[in-house]
Amino acid sequence: DQHLADYDPDVHAAISAELARQQGTLELIASENFAPVAVMEAQGSVLTNKYAEGYPGRRYYGGCEHVDVIEQLAIDRVKELFGAEAANVQPHSGAQANAAAMFALLDPGDTILGLDLAHGGHLTHGMRINFSGKLYDVVAYHVDAEDFRVDMAEVERLALEHRPKLIVAGWSAYPRQLDFAEFRRIADLVGAYLMVDMAHFAGLVATGLHPSPVPFADVVTTTTHKTLGGPRGGVILSKAELAKKINSAVFPGQQGGPLEHVVAAKAVAFKMAASPAFRERQERTLEGARLLAARLTEPDVVDAGVSVLTGGTEVHLVLVDLRDSELDGQQAEDRLHAIGLTVNRNAVPFDPRPPMVTSGLRIGTPALATRGFDAEAFAEVADIIAEALKPSYDESVAVELRDRVATLAAAHPLYPGLG
Ligand code: PLP
Repeated sequence: DQHLADYDPDVHAAISAELARQQGTLELIASENFAPVAVMEAQGSVLTNKYAEGYPGRRYYGGCEHVDVIEQLAIDRVKELFGAEAANVQPHSGAQANAAAMFALLDPGDTILGLDLAHGGHLTHGMRINFSGKLYDVVAYHVDAEDFRVDMAEVERLALEHRPKLIVAGWSAYPRQLDFAEFRRIADLVGAYLMVDMAHFAGLVATGLHPSPVPFADVVTTTTHKTLGGPRGGVILSKAELAKKINSAVFPGQQGGPLEHVVAAKAVAFKMAASPAFRERQERTLEGARLLAARLTEPDVVDAGVSVLTGGTEVHLVLVDLRDSELDGQQAEDRLHAIGLTVNRNAVPFDPRPPMVTSGLRIGTPALATRGFDAEAFAEVADIIAEALKPSYDESVAVELRDRVATLAAAHPLYPGLG
């Protein structure tokens, strides 16, 4: 059997170049992380060959005795990790976890209440041309125009007015913790299910550094590749009485054969997430975000019209507000890219600039925490970003900042065994 480098040098070269990019730049995209080698070994294994429609002990294919062991390990570990009554580890992605959860709880035409995409929600929480917007009648709640925090009074008002069958709490771009007890209270007022999509902050929940939605929600969905640091994929946690509905919504409702190689990688990631080292990493993740928010609210930056939404952060990301800056989101993203920092531009709520340009940046710390960054290294990253966003930035500043980025990258080797 030929190895990739020999059989397909084109694909091999692009993968090698991507490894070099990950090693040589600083990854600050809030939804990204670096899966450990053990996770990638499981994901790159012979399990990719196996059909296993069904669930452990109840498969529609023979030869499932080993994948049964693996999937059961993944289920048991994730239930233990989050204190959940039931778990489905088969969703191929976060979007598919949400699709299956909604498929289990709703009929087409039912009303859902979710956070507006433009205010930090996810596509699957009711965006117009997403399945969620097409299949369900969507009502969106927002953040407050003054403090940029989710407006719980509006959530209650909209719930009472529209009587949704499902309320979705969770976000892709929001720097604060949500009040799950209050969401539960409002859901109970109108007899709605409460679904929490903790895709972004699951790693913080797993380590007790963020309140858990599990006691409050009927269903909790997550991805496994963001703060959780595992393979790309999704999971659905639920109360025991919903387990059957959810399992049948995933298979045969939404998916065919599960990706057992990814399920194995999820099992490895759940083991990792229960370790003291993982908690320590999540602590550094939070500390990095706090240091970044602190630096980006200092006077030299604020004078340039740059600030941070809500004035700080309680999670792994910071939302930079450029509405008062001459720099727009696109220009800021390009500047940081030019010095070796990868971030994504992001519309801020009530953004005056068009969606392809935006007035914000979303900057997250999970990947660098995985890379071993400590408070000192994060303070250096924060200062590099601050200098890059100031009007004094020019080519000679860029040269200096690029050098500082390269020094940080070299001091924190990534995948040293991989090339
Ligand atoms: N839910 C939230 C809150 C997300 O932020 C994301 C991804 O960005 C998803 C779901 C979807 O995950 P995936 O990209 O794996 O489909």
